[in-house]
Amino acid sequence: MTKPLRHIETKLIHAGEPEPLIMGAVSMPIFQSSTFEYAGQKSYHDLKYIRLNNTPNHVALHQKLAALENAEAAIVTASGMAAITTTLLALLGPGDHFLAQECLYGGTHDFLTKDFATLGISFDFIDGDDQDSWKIKLRSNTKAVYVETITNPLMQVADLKSLIEFTKTHDLISIIDNTFASPINFRPSEWGFDLSLHSCTKYLNGHSDIVAGAVIGRADLVEKILHKLNHLGASLDPHACFLLHRGIKTLAVRIKYQNKSALEIAKYLENHPAIKMVNHPGLESNPGHQRARDLFDGYGGMLSFELKDGVNAAERIIKNITLPISAPSLGGVESLITRPATTSHSGMSSKERQSLGISDSLVRLSVGIEATEDIIEDFDQALKG
Ligand SMILES: *Cc1c(COP(=O)(O)O)cnc(C)c1O
Repeated sequence: MTKPLRHIETKLIHAGEPEPLIMGAVSMPIFQSSTFEYAGQKSYHDLKYIRLNNTPNHVALHQKLAALENAEAAIVTASGMAAITTTLLALLGPGDHFLAQECLYGGTHDFLTKDFATLGISFDFIDGDDQDSWKIKLRSNTKAVYVETITNPLMQVADLKSLIEFTKTHDLISIIDNTFASPINFRPSEWGFDLSLHSCTKYLNGHSDIVAGAVIGRADLVEKILHKLNHLGASLDPHACFLLHRGIKTLAVRIKYQNKSALEIAKYLENHPAIKMVNHPGLESNPGHQRARDLFDGYGGMLSFELKDGVNAAERIIKNITLPISAPSLGGVESLITRPATTSHSGMSSKERQSLGISDSLVRLSVGIEATEDIIEDFDQALKG
């Protein structure tokens, strides 16, 4: 009998698990062995060795992640940035041109702006909302287009459907950083994206205790990226594989709770007299709301907001709030609060941030799995103080 693995909740638990179970172990054991007995492999990439990302811990995760996004293949990497940089280095070379959404994760933005020139790769930023402008940026040597499902920290949703059409028409590789949505809320392969990237440090692991990444998508591209990864050496340690594997199993219950809680908190904040505006794709006031409705199964656990009284008020609330911890990163079971101007976007000048619409008083919240009422009560006292 084959297992009915139709729904994502079931795949989280059962897809990719070894059959038969290893020594009957219900949880995947950790294979803490750097090398494995030679078994006649013909290719370098097939030798069993931790750096080649192919221990039983890796194989199980690869199969599970591919199943979660209904994609052909997947690999895990040493961090989200390892997934991003290895993918771009595998697909682009000297003389190539690349298009990327203008509001990117800080590390990705830095990699393009600081490292691409020395690699001989050129790029242009595109406005994810303005499909007419994409064609103007296109060159004969353009190879790929890169976007994020929900942008940080303004929680915008680009015109992803038009973008997929654009990449298909012009024979470009489409890449999306799907970290903020997670496979529960959005599965890029189902909509035609070639590659989906994750910082598994965030929602997939969900417990703020490892760094890890993933590349999910077309098998031919994933294999190419794996070979580059084998050369660069950014493989995931088996112990981190074990923790990621354990974290992934609760992804659906966490994300569904976080979707609901974040929307309730966003609505509460939107109605609070001290708050100027709230960014969350689930709010009807959000310009990306209709797109999010069409594409996503949930709006995610991230939101940001601006206070009427500016930077000082933003600092005050971060100081006064007791449950959300003031820390960068996101996607864990605990709520985290930050001011992007001082953390994720501190690499940009105030002027650069302004041009992207990121005010210095913007506060970002990653909603954990605490009781929603407790977080709201905490905001109530923090906004009074
Ligand atoms: C955190 C993050 C990354 C980088 O991931 P690391 O695991 O920290 O290397 C990339 N993209 C997004 C959207 C992120 O939030």
